[in-house]
Amino acid sequence: MFDKFHEECAVVAIHGHPEAANLAYLSLYAMQHRGQESAGLAVSAGKGKDVVCHKSMGHVADIFTPEQLGRLKGDHAIGHTRYSTAGDSAHLNAQPFSVKCNKGQIAVAHNGNITNATELRNDLERSGAIFQATSDTEVILHLVAHSRERTLAGALREALLQLEGAYSLVFLAEDRIIVARDPHGFRPLAMGQMELSGGRSAYVFASETCAFDLIGAVYLNDVEPGEMVIAGPDGVTRERFSPQRNRAHCVFEHVYFARPDSIVFGQPVQPTREKMGRFLARRHPVDADVVVPVPDSGVTAAIGYADEAGLPYRQALIRNHYVGRTFIEPSQAIRDFGVKLKLNAVRHLLEGKRVVLVDDSIVRGTTSRKIVRMVRHAGAREIHLRISCPPTMSPCFYGVDTPTKSELIAANHTLDEIRRFVEADSLAYLSLHDLRESVGDDENHDYCYACYTGDYPTDMVSIDELLSSRKRP
Ligand code: AMP
Repeated sequence: MFDKFHEECAVVAIHGHPEAANLAYLSLYAMQHRGQESAGLAVSAGKGKDVVCHKSMGHVADIFTPEQLGRLKGDHAIGHTRYSTAGDSAHLNAQPFSVKCNKGQIAVAHNGNITNATELRNDLERSGAIFQATSDTEVILHLVAHSRERTLAGALREALLQLEGAYSLVFLAEDRIIVARDPHGFRPLAMGQMELSGGRSAYVFASETCAFDLIGAVYLNDVEPGEMVIAGPDGVTRERFSPQRNRAHCVFEHVYFARPDSIVFGQPVQPTREKMGRFLARRHPVDADVVVPVPDSGVTAAIGYADEAGLPYRQALIRNHYVGRTFIEPSQAIRDFGVKLKLNAVRHLLEGKRVVLVDDSIVRGTTSRKIVRMVRHAGAREIHLRISCPPTMSPCFYGVDTPTKSELIAANHTLDEIRRFVEADSLAYLSLHDLRESVGDDENHDYCYACYTGDYPTDMVSIDELLSSRKRP
């Protein structure tokens, strides 16, 4: 199977710092929320030196021991964390990918989905390319290797112009870092700088600026949609490899995906998320005693809701932050075990109360139902569920893991049917208008709302094929 989906990821690149691997490792640690399936680093020490790569399944802190990081020596590094659904080829799909080819040694890490990857892969296979993994990222490496352009930058430019869809890419060559963002700017990619001794600077690139905060880098600006940035021995050069296209920043970054302490698409996430909560409170008020977030995804919007509504905000659901991938399930089935492992209700705060429960989104509805039941079981008298985005109606083809349309509860049910399914006393979503207001998207139409509208910003030539080939475990 060619796994074209499930690429929720973080990428990072460091150029010109003697501790490049350590900084990339810390950056991935800060962005662990963007993918917990696998992580990896690739490091290079300059012209003629090997690109060394280490990657594995699991969490960043478990994968890299001090000894392993010590072996990753060099001034330039890229890194990646990947979220994917289960699959036996998962290890092969861990990134960065690295190859030796006629352009030298290169490594690449990618956030997003290439929507024409199948066509490109078929063409490449017909001309003799052999693929190791099922990820669309490998296609990019083959395009670079096949290019007749002599320089890596030239080959990359040629490769990027063949790609459709979403990509924030970081490349590592022996003595340089090259990063690029698709012409629509679906996925984020921020650029930062670190001062070194002797007036020198190191340059850093990351999906989210929370990585810069941890390593002490200053956020400069974003890599622009359709822009390629080369940080090499001659300094930093920025160039546009593609003409301007309509911008389509993923609004779900602001709704759910990014950390609230990050700046994404040039906008701090915390205030946009808080505004979503404020709009919800204004449009869908309710006679209630307390506002409770579903942690962590609903916290910031719930703060906005409570403040706007003048209601007390209480953390009446407690999250266990240490839930890893492996735990021992009891042999006798415990009802709703999965959600209980992650969340528990504070009965003392909920008993007899009319509760406004705030979460970011409903996808299939199964999690929301379990949480509503948990809150009810803890004694809540009424539960009013408020969702800080519009109903999720259509799958994402640009790098967010949403299931097929048939599994999206809002695509197939009315508001009241969803309310009954999740067993809430009332249910309300943020409107598209208010979501746009929250992210400040006025006349410019800078964001992609396809998961709420089904209005995809790219020509999806093979959309039927994409839909039918989509596999879920
Ligand atoms: P459910 O409705 O049971 O499918 O679960 C929805 C919840 O999963 C939301 O409230 C989010 O907190 C979370 N969620 C939504 N989209 C994603 C995603 N693409 N990846 C991981 N978690 C998600």
